[in-house]
This record gives sequence, C-alpha cells and structure tokens, in this order.
Amino acid sequence: MKIEIQNLSFQYGSHQVLDGVTFSVSPGKFVGIIGPNGSGKTTLLKVLSRILQPTGGSVTIGGQPLAQFTQKELARTMAVVSQDTNIGYQFTVEDVVLMGRAPYLGRFQSESLEDYEIVRQALEVTGCSHLRERSITELSGGERQRVIIARALAQQPKVLLLDEPTSHLDIGYQQEILDLVKRLSTVEGLTVVAVLHDLNLAAYFCHELVLLHRGRIVACGQPTEVLTADNIEKVYATRVLVTPHPVFGTPQISLLPGTQTDNNNSETYRIHVIAGGGSGGEIMRDLRDAGFMVTAGVLSVGDSDWEAARALNIPVVSEAPFSPVSAERHQENLALLATAQAVVLAEIPLGHGNLLNLEAALQAAADGKPVYVIEEKPAQKRDFTGGPGQLLLTKVKQQGQLIRDKTALYRALAERFPSGGKFDDFTDLTRAAVDQ
Ligand code: ADP
Repeated sequence: MKIEIQNLSFQYGSHQVLDGVTFSVSPGKFVGIIGPNGSGKTTLLKVLSRILQPTGGSVTIGGQPLAQFTQKELARTMAVVSQDTNIGYQFTVEDVVLMGRAPYLGRFQSESLEDYEIVRQALEVTGCSHLRERSITELSGGERQRVIIARALAQQPKVLLLDEPTSHLDIGYQQEILDLVKRLSTVEGLTVVAVLHDLNLAAYFCHELVLLHRGRIVACGQPTEVLTADNIEKVYATRVLVTPHPVFGTPQISLLPGTQTDNNNSETYRIHVIAGGGSGGEIMRDLRDAGFMVTAGVLSVGDSDWEAARALNIPVVSEAPFSPVSAERHQENLALLATAQAVVLAEIPLGHGNLLNLEAALQAAADGKPVYVIEEKPAQKRDFTGGPGQLLLTKVKQQGQLIRDKTALYRALAERFPSGGKFDDFTDLTRAAVDQ
C-alpha cells in the first residue's frame, strides 16, 4: 500500500517539530528516515503510526486518510516496531508473536489453527522457529528484536514502521535485521519506513532516503542523491568523505577531521611532508591531529597521499597524474616548503619522475631547516632509478636526520618543538606511542 504524506506539520506546544513534510512511499519500497538528533524522525514515525495527531497536512495509506481507519483496520494494515520494545513478563516467544493476531480476533475469541500457522510462518521468516518455547526475557538483543519483528509480521500488515530497529545491536545483528526488513519489502511487497541513525547502513539497505533537519526535508530520493558530502556537512555540521561502496557502489561515509587551523597562529608550526605512493597519509594525519600546520608536495593527482592531503584539507602542490614533477611545480613546492619550520621525507618510491622532490628536501636542508628522513627498510627496494635515486637520498640523509620510524619522528618533533599549547596532545600521542 502506498503511503502519501502531504505538507505534514506537528507541534509540541509552540515548538514546531515537523514543518511541510511531503513525500510518498511506494509498495515494496524500504525508505529510511535519517537526520541528526532532534530533527523530528521519531515524531514523524509517531504521526505516521497515529500515536500523535498532526497539526497540519495529511497522511493517506492506500488512498485512505489515516484518520479514517478504525483501530482494528489500522492494526491489520500497519505494524510498528518501536525503539527498545520492552516485554517484561516471562511470555514464551510463541505467545509474544501470537499477540500480533489480536487485531483479527473477536473479543473473547481464542486463536484458531490458522492463527498458529501464521505465527509459525512469522517465526520461520524471521529465523526464530527454534526459539518458540523460550522465554522472551532470556533472549539476546538480536533475538528479541527478531521476535518483535515476527510479532509485527503476524499482524499481516501492508505497512511496516520501524524506529531505529538496530540501535543497540552489534554489526552482525544489524545486518541480519536489515537484510530481513529489505527482503520483506522486496519479496513480500511490504511498504517499509524505518528511522535509521547509521548513514552507511541506511545507504546500503534502503531504496530511498528522507533526510530531515529541524523538522524539514533537506533531501529526499535515492541514497546517492541524498547522501552527498554537502548535504551531510550542512545537516550534521561535520566534514565527511563520500565514496562509492567498493562492491555495490552505494555511498559510504567516512569522517574527516575539521578544518585545519589558521597558520597565522604563531604557536602553530608548519611541517612540509614529502610523500607519495601511500608513504605519508598517516604521517600527515597524525601531525595535523597533533596541531601542526601541514603542507605537502609535490604529489600526483590521484595518488593515495594526494587523496589523503585533500581529505585532510592540507595545502598541496599537485602534479598531473603519471607526469614527472615539472620545473614549475618544483618551484611552487620550494616556495611552500620555504614557509615550513621542518620537512619530513617519507619512504617514497624513488623514480625519475620525483627526484626533484629529493632536490627540494636538499634545498630545505641547505636553508638550515631540519629535514627528517624516514627509513624503516633499506631504500634499495624502492629505488626504480637504477642508482641515482639512492645516491640523492644518501645526500639528503647526510644533510638531514635519519629517522627509524613514525614513532621516532613524533618523538623528534616533540623534542624540537616543545612549546605551544597545541603540543600537549602531540606529546601525549608521542608518549603513548613510546609506552607501547
Ligand atoms: P529525532 O527522532 O530526530 O531525534 P524527535 O522526533 O525525537 O527527534 O524530536 C524532535 C524534537 O521534538 C526535539 O527538539 C525534541 O526535543 C522535541 N520533542 C520530542 N518529544 C517531545 C515531547 N514529548 N514534548 C516536547 N518536545 C518533544
């Protein structure tokens, strides 16, 4: 049955909680309601399940206004799985699921064989058959949640509403429950609306999403249309990276640190990182987290370190993909490097295309800057120049300071730049690393 929601509004007293909410859900679709805390998700679900009366607008189910359903009709049409349904008594699982048959029974009528058959099927679909005689109070969170869904299915509803059905479950149960819900929509044709707080799960399982913010719809449609970095940044006030799921292409959201602090702050030291091929992503992140202003270059567009620098909002000198570092980019790199108090040379692969980056490190050393050269493993294996690369690297090592690994780097930097408020975190981080 199709649900149509038109210009819906709701107020708690004078507090407007839903405002002009309009969307529809087709039969067989699984729609996720997402949005930050307090955006009105639970209120919306309560209005859809008629627990709350809207202050404006309309909801129809299968063309019939929600307000016109009798209580019994509604219970036969719609099942609701609310957050943390609590059944304190020692009912057996079967008894709990049988409760779902209540809308079909007369006042003093007891359950028929058909009711028991429907309960058996509901237990089977939800994978609860083996729990039939167990007491509901002895089940795990995931099992209990499946039983509550089985009870909802025993109602034989056309519409299923769920409020954070997986909020306290581990990732295995989350997947199990949402797989089940999705199957109910696609295979059984149920119309499903679920409030979900985990954006990645919502993107992965839902056909469509409705993003709420302060009671209004900010975006609505396919997960790729709704879960854009812009939308998430606007609504959740956090920086994220949205990438396609490696297998299914659905949007996946990764958190990013906030915007890098202003380099005009005299207590913030600048470190220029020379990296490439994945050698510097972690270093850039750690230094940035420790409160340094980090710059990087020259990196090829698309290189994983270039991606990391972009994700971290780090100023970077970029070269075209698969092109050697040009004289122009090299000059830009030298200019950026000149503003740094120290240089870190990560364990980069040495190729003819990036030897200018080693030259840049040499230049920094000649200018009197500390140059930290990381070398965990002998450079031979990453020298693709047949010798010149290693020769140049040896020169940099002679002019700079050889560093065994990241921990040693962080310790060296903490010693070199011991002042400034932002160093507290960093010293802690170094200490933690040293203590391990
Ligand atoms: P969400 O589910 O997105 O976290 P809710 O629908 O629970 O949001 O709440 C939306 C807004 O309504 C919040 O500002 C909340 O404080 C307010 N609210 C929720 N329940 C009540 C209530 N019973 N009385 C007054 N205000 C409420």
